[in-house]
Amino acid sequence: LNRRLAGLGTTIFAEMSALAVSTGAINLGQGFPDTDGPESVREAAVRALRDGRGNQYPPGQGVPELRAAVSGHQKRFYGLDVDPDTEVLVTAGATEAIAAAMLALLEPGDEVIAFEPFYDSYAACVAMAGGGRVPLTLRAPDFRPDLDALRDAVTPRTRLLLLNSPHNPTGMVLTRDELTAIAELAVERDLLVVTDEVYEHITYDGAEHVPLIGLPGMRERTVAISSAGKTFSFTGWKVGWVTGPAELVAAVRTTKQFLTYVASGPFQYAAAEALALPDAYFTGLRDDLRAKRDILADGLATAGFEVYRPQGTYFITTDIADLAPDTDALTFCRTLPERAGVVAVPNSVFYDHPTAGRTQVRFAFCKQQNLLREAADRLRQLS
Ligand code: PMP
Ligand code: GLN
Repeated sequence: LNRRLAGLGTTIFAEMSALAVSTGAINLGQGFPDTDGPESVREAAVRALRDGRGNQYPPGQGVPELRAAVSGHQKRFYGLDVDPDTEVLVTAGATEAIAAAMLALLEPGDEVIAFEPFYDSYAACVAMAGGGRVPLTLRAPDFRPDLDALRDAVTPRTRLLLLNSPHNPTGMVLTRDELTAIAELAVERDLLVVTDEVYEHITYDGAEHVPLIGLPGMRERTVAISSAGKTFSFTGWKVGWVTGPAELVAAVRTTKQFLTYVASGPFQYAAAEALALPDAYFTGLRDDLRAKRDILADGLATAGFEVYRPQGTYFITTDIADLAPDTDALTFCRTLPERAGVVAVPNSVFYDHPTAGRTQVRFAFCKQQNLLREAADRLRQLS
């Protein structure tokens, strides 16, 4: 492995899911739902397979049906006008979109500012593109960004901001005011912004997802990324998309065509149907997950964890300092399956900061309610 990727051997998600399989523990680590998405959408995938749509290489930009559906979704939920022919690119999940964006937009030595803890592919993708990452630490209990620190972190070498909201793993959702301040800074310092919005439909308690690309001055400098994995509970399908100005989307398409070229042919047609589901589907997803959040959050608090109740995503970040003094999150998570029959993920691996996330542990609640209750019962035995 080359030096740029030193220390990035195996992702924590693979390690912890393997541990769940080998120990038979309840897997609240890697974020994937234990109930598949809508039957009608699965049927759409089957129909596409049977009818021979997408069984051979789809077009490099994605099938027209999906590009039109992405454009329709941006209009319906956010009032954004997106040209399906030049301003949408279909990718192999958001993961490929992030990689392709970094490879397309960074020159070696460019700096990328991102709030930590960050989703682990960010560090890897910035490194693969030869960029340098500049982390800004989000701090418990609210994990709100320090916008003065952000302003101070911009240097002449800063090329782009890599933003994630709703934020994995903390569940923080950037407010319109925060996004407005970020937009003003991006315009003033002429920065590009890549926004990872995969949890756009998963917000609670009145928190609202605001796409940065819709704010003044951002249309020409934002690459927005989302995917079908979280919104429709099909994380294995790997259908994602990029929207943005034609010039930036074309740049991302250039790198994307040498990564996978294309992916997920029949699933693209099914994702197009999913994006057109009625509003009730989207509110139902939120309501379902809010109830699950509350079950797990209450269970974790009773078990002695300090709980940071998320405003978005399907993750709860906790602190174990009171429950397990002198234990770091990674050690805690590696031994949790044998001690309590539950798998979680240590947030510490998502930080460059040596101590900020040392005792933070993340639990996923995109699981059936009885499983969440069972996990909480098991965790109660720890205290
Ligand atoms: N970004 C974030 C913040 C995520 O949590 C995930 C997890 N799935 C991804 C990107 C990757 O999305 P996909 O599965 O569509 O590649
Ligand atoms: N995004 C998911 C999570 O944060 C996992 C994705 C992965 O396994 N790479 O848990």
